[in-house]
Amino acid sequence: MDGLMMNRPLLQAGLLDYAADSFASAQIVSRRVEGDTHRQSYGQTRARAVQLSLALEEMGIGPEDRVATLAWNGHRHLELYYAVPNIGAVCHTINPRLSAEQLIFIAHHAGDKALFLDLTFLPAVETLKAHLPAMRYVLMTDRAHMPENGLDALCYEDLLDGRATDRDWPQFPETTASGLCYTSGTTGDPKGTLYSHRSNVLHAMSIAVCLGPDLGPQPRILPVVPLFHVNAWGLPFAGPLMGASLIMPGPHLDGESLWQLCEDEGVESAWGVPTIWQGLYTEIRKRDAKPGALRHIVVGGSAMPRSLTEGFEKLGIDVNHAWGMTETSPLGSHGSLPTDKRRLPFAERMALKATQGRRVFGVEMKIVDENGQRQPHDGTAMGGLYVRGNTIADGYFDNEEASRKVIDDEGWFMTGDIASISPDGYLTLRDRAKDLIKSGGEWISSIDVENFALAHDKVAQCAVIAMPHPKWGERPLMVVTPATPDDRPTLDEICEILAPHLARWQFPDDLVFVDEMPMTATGKISKRTLRQRFKNHVPPEPAED
Ligand code: ADP
Repeated sequence: MDGLMMNRPLLQAGLLDYAADSFASAQIVSRRVEGDTHRQSYGQTRARAVQLSLALEEMGIGPEDRVATLAWNGHRHLELYYAVPNIGAVCHTINPRLSAEQLIFIAHHAGDKALFLDLTFLPAVETLKAHLPAMRYVLMTDRAHMPENGLDALCYEDLLDGRATDRDWPQFPETTASGLCYTSGTTGDPKGTLYSHRSNVLHAMSIAVCLGPDLGPQPRILPVVPLFHVNAWGLPFAGPLMGASLIMPGPHLDGESLWQLCEDEGVESAWGVPTIWQGLYTEIRKRDAKPGALRHIVVGGSAMPRSLTEGFEKLGIDVNHAWGMTETSPLGSHGSLPTDKRRLPFAERMALKATQGRRVFGVEMKIVDENGQRQPHDGTAMGGLYVRGNTIADGYFDNEEASRKVIDDEGWFMTGDIASISPDGYLTLRDRAKDLIKSGGEWISSIDVENFALAHDKVAQCAVIAMPHPKWGERPLMVVTPATPDDRPTLDEICEILAPHLARWQFPDDLVFVDEMPMTATGKISKRTLRQRFKNHVPPEPAED
């Protein structure tokens, strides 16, 4: 027997409608490419999204059409996040840090009909125009800033101007596709994750449930995480749900700019990858002051160095270490601590904060060994991490071959991460499967080694990669960017700091230096590039134990 309750589709439009009705004082603050700071309410955001949706329809955009964006975090990008899916079309965010070749591949594969771009990206897109003959372009600016351009581009503000500011949004099934985001293609061609209205609404509710209590009522949140990759970790949807003010940073993401933005706008919670927080922390130390209202950081994308977490926590900033991926919407786990754990002594609390936290509601997790056997959640058994839930990809857009490889017989998604899970539910990421180092039949977690080495004052950035070795199969090589160029740590100094935590055979065999770490399009150290660069490096013989 069915329950006798209404069954209304979970559509993204409902999130913005709710914020417009309920949170009149919340603001979307945008540092714009044009150089000014713009403010608008959710009510105004909804009105402009309505105008844009009407303009899109006039451009011939309708259900299932893909509309691409190439833009920083700002109010116009947020308006696209609603205007496009609310008429049944798909908002395809493109990462501007991808290579021209990948960008063309993605735009073709997605079948994008139109591309909305920030002024910053005009020169790059002009050079691609010949490869995208059917594309229509819209420059995300007003008439006064509209440059001469070779794209025959429309002007965003002209499109909105004079249109109706209210409408009843079209209704359609909640499973309708709403957003498309490609992985950065570190292994083969980029693959598209196709989100639905339902998955995005449920994901927003998960964030509000799991992180909302730490954020407090109507928090002021800075999404440093880009709207151009993985929905800025869901903030465009969870923000309206929580009545949050969203402080959109535009293109300036260095420590100094972020410090000033946090200070000027009273940012309470800031979300981004570890390299961003390294930059902010350096600025805080330089000024000997944290931005006044900042009390919460969400970090993910790669492992947060424990020393950095401790640095922020000592300043009274609660660090919430989260895990996820493009295919998981992305939040899979979060580091908010339950009440009893908050009372633990500092060192014990920091040990928990170094983990990737507990699963969010709606995401199940299992770890399995090489034979597919489930491993116990005992905190030590390591295995491939699989996830399942309503916010997890069930395959890739128009790519059956890749889809088959990632879903197992029981319908779980293979993350490609190696993890352990403690009896009380804390997930610890040991490595990407492809980054683990197998030495003499034993696994070495590169994340573990890096994490302990980063506590050394002379180490600014650090990556541990596998070197082929005739006797041991693989041995670890440590690549370091020194904090001060002419004060490099020695291998002995590094081993000394690792000694209390790791066995000797897990120590790196050698240490090499780079002035700058190669980064991926999503702000992670590119170990693939490092492996390539040091493939001919000959490490010395490891000491025998
Ligand atoms: P891409 O870099 O291809 O865009 P994603 O942004 O989807 O991929 O990144 C997903 C991967 O990032 C995860 O599978 C995991 O390896 C890594 N990752 C994400 N969050 C964390 C974290 N908190 N700690 C360690 N690794 C993480």
